Amino acid sequence: MTAPGIPRSDKAVALSLTGLTKAFGSMAAVDAIDLDIAEGEFLTIVGPSGSGKSTLVRLLAGLDAPTAGSIRLRGADITRVPANRRPTALVFQSLALFDHKTVGQNIEFAMKMKGIAPDPRRVRAMELLALVRLPAHYYSRAVTSCSGGERQRVALARAFASDPEILFFDEPLSALDYRLRKTLEVELKDLHQRTGKTFVYITHSLEEAMVMSDRIAIMRAGRFVQVGDPASIYSAPANRFVASFMGEVNILTVVPGPDGTPRFAELDVPAPGARGAYAVLRPEALQTDTGDVRISCRVRQVALLGSRTQVMLDAGAAQLIAEVPGAPASLVPGAELSFGFALSDVTWVDE
Ligand code: ADP
Ligand code: MG
Repeated sequence: MTAPGIPRSDKAVALSLTGLTKAFGSMAAVDAIDLDIAEGEFLTIVGPSGSGKSTLVRLLAGLDAPTAGSIRLRGADITRVPANRRPTALVFQSLALFDHKTVGQNIEFAMKMKGIAPDPRRVRAMELLALVRLPAHYYSRAVTSCSGGERQRVALARAFASDPEILFFDEPLSALDYRLRKTLEVELKDLHQRTGKTFVYITHSLEEAMVMSDRIAIMRAGRFVQVGDPASIYSAPANRFVASFMGEVNILTVVPGPDGTPRFAELDVPAPGARGAYAVLRPEALQTDTGDVRISCRVRQVALLGSRTQVMLDAGAAQLIAEVPGAPASLVPGAELSFGFALSDVTWVDE
């Protein structure tokens, strides 16, 4: 388990990537990536479809060889070592379970291939069922009789069967429904803490990454545009691309006004002290009747979130999202009122 606040550099490096590149023709799907992954870390790589996440994880798992660069495992060069000789395991979205086999046979498959005898195999399979919190009697169940979440747990148990030092996950939850995904996110994080293994997790959802990770790398067109802990990515996105990944966030464009001073383009109000092409503003920074920048808004939609209320607002040419405490009676669709924000709450970024 990683204690908060301990700098990554205090930990031993598990995997070290230097100039790692994979080109398909003239296109570098992974483009000269440098990264150290710490022992026991939960690192999540987040990027849109096509940004090179799967290509990168295939290089790390040894399923593909890079065009250039190297991969070291605790200092030893493993760049050309094939997948079956690396102490790693990969969990996919399509779980690739054997449907004609039982849960136990699926978990034991690799052990059987290695020639491990039935009794120790079964003992280990039972341990692994417990690890992923499946009841022992699932051992003899047909894998086809398992629910989606249970199948995901069987795949996890199978990945742990070879006792890998590093586990790679390539969007393993993206085909599951929201509730199940949320449950499994928490279980994966818990599994990481209980096993102390190094996890490298791939997703296109920054929200998912925020829940689980010690550290997040944001990927765009084969490169990392920002690497940091969830809190620093949330509070200080490096550019508009990272900010736009945060989903529920306001991004305003800064343009020079007629007199040369900066203005918020969509709101047509001054942007004093602007230090970038865009202002990123979290929903909770936007409140009624306060702030350095005041905006006339019309309430479009209201959603109660327990002790807070989320408000969608039309303001000039912008659609804004605000999150206010409680459930103010004034916030009803169609209401005209003033919202505002403090300039100190703005993160200024460039493209
Ligand atoms: P992601 O997993 O982030 O969606 P991928 O790593 O699958 O992205 O793909 C990154 C880029 O590399 C895409 O443009 C994709 O079309 C290309 N690509 C991936 N695999 C191959 C391949 N085997 N041959 C040619 N192009 C590929
Ligand atoms: Mg992919």
